[in-house]
Amino acid sequence: MLKRRVLPVLCLALVVGAQGAMAASTRDTMPETMDMLQHAIAFKTVKGEGQIQPFAEYLATKLKSAGFTDADIEIIPIEGSAGMIVTYKGSTPEQPFFIAAHMDVVPAPHADKWHSDPFKLTERDGYLYGRGAADMKSKLIAVVSTFMRLKREGFVPKRTMILQLSGGEEAGPNTTREMIRRSPKPEFMLNAESGGGIYNGQLQPVLYTVQAAEKTYADFTLEAISPGGHSSQPQPAKNAINRMAKALDHIATYRFPAQADEITRGFLRATGEHEQGAVARAMVAFAKNPKDQQAADVLYADPAYIGQIGTTCIATMMSAGQARNALPQDATANVNCRIFPGVSVESVQATLTRLVDDPSITITARHGPVTPPSPLVPALMEAVAATVHERFPGVAVAPAMSAGATDGKYYREAGIPSYGVDSTFSKPDDERMHGVDERILAREIPASLDFWHSLLTRLGGK
Ligand SMILES: [Zn+2]
Repeated sequence: MLKRRVLPVLCLALVVGAQGAMAASTRDTMPETMDMLQHAIAFKTVKGEGQIQPFAEYLATKLKSAGFTDADIEIIPIEGSAGMIVTYKGSTPEQPFFIAAHMDVVPAPHADKWHSDPFKLTERDGYLYGRGAADMKSKLIAVVSTFMRLKREGFVPKRTMILQLSGGEEAGPNTTREMIRRSPKPEFMLNAESGGGIYNGQLQPVLYTVQAAEKTYADFTLEAISPGGHSSQPQPAKNAINRMAKALDHIATYRFPAQADEITRGFLRATGEHEQGAVARAMVAFAKNPKDQQAADVLYADPAYIGQIGTTCIATMMSAGQARNALPQDATANVNCRIFPGVSVESVQATLTRLVDDPSITITARHGPVTPPSPLVPALMEAVAATVHERFPGVAVAPAMSAGATDGKYYREAGIPSYGVDSTFSKPDDERMHGVDERILAREIPASLDFWHSLLTRLGGK
């Protein structure tokens, strides 16, 4: 017989609700998990608030209550933030693996527009609301709670599992780079926040993606200067604004060559096969033959997929001129590029220089890490697929490339193959990450506990 427990109100609705099928042990873990999530949301782990280290210390206390020792836990304060490393010791010297998540959240500047306090976990209509509900405290707590459960179950993995909790995914790479430096080199890293499952509007599972590559993020500053003077005596050919407008137009109308690799082909094939219409047919055709010009044309025209078939560059900011009645002395624009893996920043800059076709316009680049795609290791992909299929048998599991928004790039930069395996499913744009009324489907919490328990048991080995 199951032990009956007194549950906080929040948990009761969840446990008694749609989760009749969850494993008994997950049900036992839920009250404590929900209590930890309530605490997690209440820690205002926004940059500059000094709450990241206290949050890490709270997590350390919980982990120790489950059997982790001081030697297993390292909190590393850095620049007002902190990183946290939790080592789950394996029984053999086999190469360890990492699980990565971040403890910080973005601010919630329009708290008055929220339907509930952003720093108080609130359940409404089957969703859990709060800053970090989706990005990514619910996912972080699911992993920490699973570490605690495995420890209490007496599970000893064959290989060491190292949890790395960063304090700055939203603000910078420092805690991540320091944690990588202090840990033994792993075989791979599992990122708890990228990739993941997609529901359609009826909450049926459509696809699960494993994020295995990121595009390179790059900003190019274009600057034109001109002599200035009185606007009653114009010199159109020299005018910095006119020249900049022409340059940006050349960039906007240019198409970078269509490209594909095993990750994007796998993603387009799986997505295309599960949808209908011209775009879906183009995805399947392009996956089969990336030289199919007709298919490429269709995908180029769709903002949702143009980024999947090559490098993109587009103007995002502009400033120019100094007075209404004066000729401009300068014009500056930012062109933001998302560069396909394997393409160098220098080659994109050379293309922009050629397109601008104006030697008096200077171009300077600022960019993030340039990282290779992570290889699709069959054993790993199979373990993830088997885990996903325990919940949703038969749902397609495909690799994916993202436009560069996670800690994964710092691990790939350090030569660590990284895989985004978010434990949750969501409807597109349903979670409102970084926005007002950020939320996650309540039913994804117990599902995440099942997911991590199953995946870590598989990959940790007995
Ligand atoms: Zn995030």
